[in-house]
Amino acid sequence: MPGHLSGKVAIVTGSSSGIGQSIATRLAADGATVVIDYRNHPEGAEETKKQIEAAGGKGITLQADVSSLVDVQRLVDEAWQQLGSCDILVNNAGIEKSADFWDVTEQDYDAVLDVNLKGVFFLTQAFVRHLREAKRPGRIINISSVHEDMAFPHFSTYCASKGGLRMLARTLAVELGPLGITINNIAPGAIMTPINKKLLDDKPKLNALLKNIPLGRMGMPEDVAAIAAFLASDDAAYITGSTYVIDGGLTVNYHEQ
Ligand code: NAD
Repeated sequence: MPGHLSGKVAIVTGSSSGIGQSIATRLAADGATVVIDYRNHPEGAEETKKQIEAAGGKGITLQADVSSLVDVQRLVDEAWQQLGSCDILVNNAGIEKSADFWDVTEQDYDAVLDVNLKGVFFLTQAFVRHLREAKRPGRIINISSVHEDMAFPHFSTYCASKGGLRMLARTLAVELGPLGITINNIAPGAIMTPINKKLLDDKPKLNALLKNIPLGRMGMPEDVAAIAAFLASDDAAYITGSTYVIDGGLTVNYHEQ
């Protein structure tokens, strides 16, 4: 719905590629000014900005590693300084590392938890502190995963982080409701993005996965962006503490033999 987010400012983390790039472009097309956060791909962030401008929207790029407390504080401070407010936060940045549970290293555990859970926690805290001080409402949207609920063997760190996001959203919905701030999760299934490069290159594995998806295809980043746009809109004003699954039916798939 073009224009329905005009006057709003949205930060989208990790928006130099994949789902984040699509959400940034969609929120901008809907009227928001978007802060395109990136960690180490300025060229991807510039591409997002180009896509936003081609859609008639506005965006600025800011470098911030969400796993750094200094960086997340600076990200929110700069958004307020440059754009005058910050109304919507999309915690999208995320990574995954595969290993048998007994082989997971402390380094890999820290890498995944620091981006996917600690990053979300402290960026959200910085975002909320500004809103609270300004007495303004806000929207928080976390890109979690079907794996906030569904087992994913050999990705125990990823599941621990996304499961953490599930309870973080529920608890913060209660704590932030009186401030007029909502928080919801989007839980995508298999989406066509660079995070799935290995899977996309492995045809037998990909075909086995597709057989488990009732809609018979992987999701597109734009499918996820459409829910983010809804959750950022006035139509979603009374929704908080929920998870929106978008997986082509993957998690409810069941067949009698
Ligand atoms: P992606 O790899 O294209 O996007 C992840 C983005 O996060 C990248 O732009 C990366 O640079 C950024 N990032 C990583 N660490 C960062 C950090 N420390 N600071 C700032 N940015 C950082 O993959 P994607 O599929 O678009 O992933 C986006 C989100 O969606 C992730 O949270 C992921 O877990 C989630 N997700 C993806 C799928 C899927 O199938 N693609 C399914 C469920 C959930």
